[in-house]
Amino acid sequence: MQHSDIIIIGGGLGGLIAAHHLAKNGREVLLIEKKTYPFHRVCGEYISNEVKDFLLKENLFPQEIGPSVITKFQLSSIKGNVANMPLDLGGFGISRYSFDLFLYQKATAVGVKFLLQTQVEEVGFEPKENRFFLKLNKGNSMTANHVIGAFGKRSKVDKAMDRPFMHQRSPFIGVKYHVKTDFDPNTVALHNFEGGYCGINQVENGVSNLCYLGSKKQLRQYGSIPEMEKEVLYKNPHLRQIFLNSEFLFDKPEVINEINFSPKQPVEDHILMVGDAAGLITPLCGNGMAIAIHTGKLAAEAILQNQDRRQIESQYRRQWTLIFKTRLWIGRKVQWLFGSKTVSEFSVGLIKSSPFVAKEIMKRTHGERF
Ligand SMILES: Cc1cc2nc3c(=O)[nH]c(=O)nc-3n(C[C@H](O)[C@H](O)[C@H](O)COP(=O)(O)OP(=O)(O)OC[C@H]3O[C@@H](n4cnc5c(N)ncnc54)[C@H](O)[C@@H]3O)c2cc1C
Repeated sequence: MQHSDIIIIGGGLGGLIAAHHLAKNGREVLLIEKKTYPFHRVCGEYISNEVKDFLLKENLFPQEIGPSVITKFQLSSIKGNVANMPLDLGGFGISRYSFDLFLYQKATAVGVKFLLQTQVEEVGFEPKENRFFLKLNKGNSMTANHVIGAFGKRSKVDKAMDRPFMHQRSPFIGVKYHVKTDFDPNTVALHNFEGGYCGINQVENGVSNLCYLGSKKQLRQYGSIPEMEKEVLYKNPHLRQIFLNSEFLFDKPEVINEINFSPKQPVEDHILMVGDAAGLITPLCGNGMAIAIHTGKLAAEAILQNQDRRQIESQYRRQWTLIFKTRLWIGRKVQWLFGSKTVSEFSVGLIKSSPFVAKEIMKRTHGERF
């Protein structure tokens, strides 16, 4: 049976950053990813600048791909009233198709081994042997000294571990397009519609990402995504304008179900959970990717800086709780300011009349540069 020092399950941003950091510091790392790079994911593709210093320092900032520079925020209510504000921290726009591939290549270059198109079906800790045992979909098994869980918001592994959030159904769907449209490259906009909100911002090559969190109930009611968009999203005049005047670059949208924002644990069955596997922040905050990158770094550091398993786990749990727990909680609360006529008017009014309060709310869902 193959044995590895460290196995990382899942190669999104959290897994790739952890893998890169560990391998660069001399550790043997195997990353198991069920897909093959490059591929599209449902994501707004706006990355908060809180990660920029770290990426630059690690030579992982994807400058050559040409990310957009985002400095302004626009919010519209369902009726189409608009508020604008500058972003203190700002961010950049880049497609996951390009960014994940870029990080995969960087991780390969520092010696990370990849097992692609392979799914982990089960993972468990064996106390007697003081190691992990993993079962893969190809019928084989592996062991490892350490496991980082970077398998995103919902995975077969969550089911096998019977994590509590797997018993809850989510009312949301996520839909993403890439479009060519006339949109300010320096702005990220969030447009409300009944039951959800839709973000738009530029990524690389003059392409814009158009991505929304919608309601599963409305999809059932209207029978198809195009019908639901016509009946629900088009009620916001800004969305109607974007949908009717853009060139859609995918044959069909990327769609996901079961987007659950319930709290999770950062360490479970001795596995260090990073990114969405430890908790998904509501997308309107625009920093789930920054959290995945930051937690990937922290999990790697916990393994690098400690010998003893208890110390590794307690350092990671402590740091995760300190830095992210409240941000995720505020994100869940702020989501109530979106997706209905009255509250979306209230949110637009808040930015116009009390920009200071709006900035404070935004600040609390974001972290410091690291
Ligand atoms: C609608 C929507 C819009 C969003 N917009 C933004 C935004 O604009 N900005 C932002 O910062 N965040 C945004 N987010 C959040 C962001 O996408 C996530 O927080 C981020 O992708 C988390 O990264 P991750 O590495 O934890 O997981 P992921 O990127 O999801 O990666 C997990 C990986 O694990 C693999 N995997 C899963 N199970 C297994 C298994 N059993 N075996 C092997 N591999 C497995 C998957 O194939 C996947 O590649 C948005 C989320 C949604 C739902």
